[in-house]
Amino acid sequence: MYNAKAYSASSPTSQLTSTTIPRRDPGERDVQIEILFCGVCHSDLHTVRDEWKDVMPAVYQCVPGHEIVGRVTSIGSAVTKVKVGDSVGVGCMVGADLTCPQCQKHMEQFCPNVTLTYNSPDKGAGPVTYGGYSDSIVVDEHFVLRVPENLDLAAAAPLLCAGITTYSPLRHWGVTKGKKVGVVGLGGLGHMGVKFAHALGAHTVVFSTSPNKRDDAFRLGADELVVSTDAAEMAKHAGSFDFILDCVSAEHDLNAYIHMLAIDGNLTMVGAPEKPLPLGIFGLLFGRKSVSGSMIGGIKETQEMLDFCGEHNITSDVEIIPIQKINEAYERMLKSDVKYRFSIDMASLKAE
Ligand SMILES: [Zn+2]
Ligand SMILES: [Zn+2]
Repeated sequence: MYNAKAYSASSPTSQLTSTTIPRRDPGERDVQIEILFCGVCHSDLHTVRDEWKDVMPAVYQCVPGHEIVGRVTSIGSAVTKVKVGDSVGVGCMVGADLTCPQCQKHMEQFCPNVTLTYNSPDKGAGPVTYGGYSDSIVVDEHFVLRVPENLDLAAAAPLLCAGITTYSPLRHWGVTKGKKVGVVGLGGLGHMGVKFAHALGAHTVVFSTSPNKRDDAFRLGADELVVSTDAAEMAKHAGSFDFILDCVSAEHDLNAYIHMLAIDGNLTMVGAPEKPLPLGIFGLLFGRKSVSGSMIGGIKETQEMLDFCGEHNITSDVEIIPIQKINEAYERMLKSDVKYRFSIDMASLKAE
């Protein structure tokens, strides 16, 4: 075991502060990574404030962060996937049994024995896993991703959660050239959804309550922006979408978007509204439409997503912050005051 520098919360109401955490010494299948950047995901905030206590109660001290990029500093004797000096990433998972039916189908995210990157029971150094708000991490090579060298690392970090969360359902539902795709909510997830839908060749439409987002939507790759509160504009698009990616975590009217779907169209939720949303079933019956959910993606697909980003030069739009600004960043994230993701420069942790 060794000590790593980190930022942690010690209770649901405390600020994140500097601390040290135990990390396991690298075993033969392990990769030790110097963390250079870590994206800031809404899940980080939900977890440190214990807002998901019914499903995944937080264990303190709590070190969040699952949009990790860095450089390999050492590898175990059995590691073949990466070498020292490589740019690598770690997303939301650091372990799974790799033998269950889900793992065999490359869907480790649905493994009953998945180990999440933070706040998950850990057989290694701590009582729970500690995430990426830290200067280093040790991860089984299966869960280490190669980051294409042409990508800016600070801007690549959010690909590990926001990127795969939006890429996976677009691929699963066959988004390609000739399809009409809607993206609801232009935030951390939505802006990645727009970039991917555009790169996959789809006619990409952003739904927004605000016409002020039009310039940004076009810059990100959208072909149109529809103001969702404008009934006449919405009516023009009714029944025309093959696929809609719904990135909204707040309460909102799903049925208005189901009305936008074409026959056999699908709406996939990647946001997680706290309370159940009313679903008008008639809207689904007339047109054999479906509503579904999606959560990150498997390791194989995450690598495919990163390679796709390398080919198409796709990264997240980020605001780089020092770790000392993390508490302020959480408050700003709650007000959607970020374009479109915070990325922590972990060099700032050296000052602690
Ligand atoms: Zn996340
Ligand atoms: Zn499994």
